[in-house]
Amino acid sequence: MNCKDALRQISGYLDGNMDDELKSMLQVHLKCCHHCQIVFDTTKKTIELYCDGKLFPLPNTVRERLHDALRAKWESRSK
Ligand SMILES: [Zn+2]
Repeated sequence: MNCKDALRQISGYLDGNMDDELKSMLQVHLKCCHHCQIVFDTTKKTIELYCDGKLFPLPNTVRERLHDALRAKWESRSK
């Protein structure tokens, strides 16, 4: 898995709708990639803040905004 794939999977991982194989591939990548780790942590914290620590599904608008933010982050780094 490369960074682009990892970033694409992060929101799915945090949503909890991801199959185990993909999940372990992402975890392996996060362990060895500092950049993706930061994005993962930031996204996770954003979601936790939003949900006030409780687990419930994110509204689509919030999820879309997160996806956009992730994509923008990735694109600005890869230039
Ligand atoms: Zn990476």
